[in-house]
Amino acid sequence: MTTHIPHWIDGRESRGTSGRTAPVFNPATGAQTGEVDLASAAEVDAVVAQASDAAREWRQSSLSRRSAVLFAFRELLHQRTDELAAIITAEHGKVLSDAAGEIARGLENVEYAAGVPQLLKGGFSEQAASGVDVYSIRQPLGVVAGITPFNFPAMVPLWMCANAIACGNAFILKPSEKDPSASLFLARLWKEAGLPDGVFTVLQGDKEAVDAILEHPGIAAVSFVGSTPIAKYIYETGTAHGKRVQALGGAKNHALVLPDADVDMAADAVVSAAYGAAGERCMALSVAVAVGDIADPLVDAIAVRLPKLSIGNGAEPGTDMGPLITREHRDRVAGYIGAGQEAGATVVVDGRETTVPEDGFFLGTTLLDHVTPEMTVYTDEIFGPVLGVVRVETYEQGLALINANQYANGTAIFTRDGGAARQFQFDVEVGMVGINVPIPVPVAYYSFGGWKDSLFGDTHMYGPEGISFYTRGKVVTSRWPDPATSSVDLGFPRTR
Ligand code: NAD
Repeated sequence: MTTHIPHWIDGRESRGTSGRTAPVFNPATGAQTGEVDLASAAEVDAVVAQASDAAREWRQSSLSRRSAVLFAFRELLHQRTDELAAIITAEHGKVLSDAAGEIARGLENVEYAAGVPQLLKGGFSEQAASGVDVYSIRQPLGVVAGITPFNFPAMVPLWMCANAIACGNAFILKPSEKDPSASLFLARLWKEAGLPDGVFTVLQGDKEAVDAILEHPGIAAVSFVGSTPIAKYIYETGTAHGKRVQALGGAKNHALVLPDADVDMAADAVVSAAYGAAGERCMALSVAVAVGDIADPLVDAIAVRLPKLSIGNGAEPGTDMGPLITREHRDRVAGYIGAGQEAGATVVVDGRETTVPEDGFFLGTTLLDHVTPEMTVYTDEIFGPVLGVVRVETYEQGLALINANQYANGTAIFTRDGGAARQFQFDVEVGMVGINVPIPVPVAYYSFGGWKDSLFGDTHMYGPEGISFYTRGKVVTSRWPDPATSSVDLGFPRTR
C-alpha cells in the first residue's frame, strides 16, 4: 500500500498532470511507501503564473500582518514537532530526536523572520543636500524558488521560506523527491497560520522541474542546497537566465585535534558529528586531523565509542543511528570503505560487518586510520557513517591540509589553548568554524554558508544575508521645495 504524494498549489493538495512519478521508500524497512508526483515544465509554468498573482497581493500586506502569520506558523510548528519528526523519520531514516532537532533549528529561522518589521527598516538621512532627504527601502523580489536536498527535509526549506515570505515574496519549494512529505506538512501549517493561498507552493519534481524553474522568466531568485556539481549547475544556469542565485554545495569537514586537547571530549564530539544522521549532514565531520601524539589515544577513544551506538529503525526509541537514504547510496558508501582499505588505510572499525535485523539501507559505523590526502575516501564527499583519520606532525601541516581542500563548509578545532584556537580562526579558509564545537551551524541571526566549492554565489543563507537576498534595495531622494525658491538649474545636482 503506497501513498500518493501530490503538489501543494493555491492552498490545497494538487495531483500532478505530467504522468511521471517517483517511488518513495522507508529507508529503515526498505519498503516503498509512497509515490511522488514529478512536475513537468508546463506545470511549473502554471504555478509561476499563479504565484505571481499571489506575490502581487502579499507584498501589499502590512509588516505587522506578516509578522502575525510568522508567529502563528511558529506556534503550530512548535506544537506539532513530533508529528513532523515522525514524517521525516519515515522517509529520511534519521532518528526521531534528530528529526526534532532539525525542526527546532528550522524554527529559529521562523522566529528570526517574525521580526521582519525590524529587519526591513531602512536608513534615513535628513538634509543630504539643502532641503533634500535621502532614504532607503527594501522591497520583495516577487516569486522566488527554493530547491532543497533530502538530508534536511524541514530545516533547509525553513532556512529559505521563512525569510522569503516575511519579506513579501511568494515562495515555490521544490523539495527532494526522496523525502517529499515534510514539505506538504509545512504547507498545511502555513495555511492554518493564515498565509494567503498561493504564497507558499510545493512543486514536487526532479531535474525537469528544476530546469523549468531555472529558465522561467517569472522567477526572480533561486536558493539551492545540495551537492556541489548540481549547485554549480544551478548557479551557472540560473544566473545565465538573469536570476539572483545562492547555491550551497557539498562538504568535507575537518576536525583539527591538537595534542593538548581533552581526548575524551574531542572523541565524544567527533563521534557525534561524524555519525549523527548516519553522516548525511553537510556539516558532518568526516575527517579527523590528529596532530602529533594525540593520534593513538584519539583513535582508541573513538573506536571504543562506536560499538556502543545502537543502529536501527530511527522510529524506535533508543536508536542512535538510522539507515542511509537509498540502497544505492548505502552500496556507494560501502564501496568507499573497500577503496580506502585497498589504498592502504587501516580499517579500525568496519561498518560493513554490522548486521541489523531489518531489510533497510543500513551500514554500520566505520573508522579508517592512516588516511592520506590522495585516497578517494579523503578527496570525495562520502555522505555516510565513515570517519577518516589523517595523522600530521604539526598544526601548520593540519592547517595546510584543510586550506588545500576544495570544500570549505565547516571545520572545528579541539584544543585547550585559546591562542591556538584564535590563530586557527584567523588562518583557516572555511566559512563556518567551531572552537571545541563540532557542528558550528550558525544561529538564525547570523548567516549560513561555506567558501570555495561549498557555495556558489555571493550571499550566504538565512539571517541578515537571507533578508538581503530576498529583497532589493531602493534609495529615494526627496525634496519638498518651497515654491518661492524654485528655479531652473541645468547643472549636475550637488550636495554642497
Ligand atoms: P542533490 O544535489 O542530489 O539534490 C539536491 C536537489 O537538486 C534535489 O531537490 C534534487 O531533486 C535536485 N537535483 C538533483 N539532481 C539534479 C540535476 N541533475 N539537475 C537539477 N536538479 C537536480 O543533493 P542531495 O543528495 O539531495 O543532498 C545531499 C547533498 O547536499 C550533499 O552533497 C550535502 O553536502 C549537500 N548539502 C549541503 C548543505 C549546505 O548547506 N552546504 C546542506 C545540506 C546538504
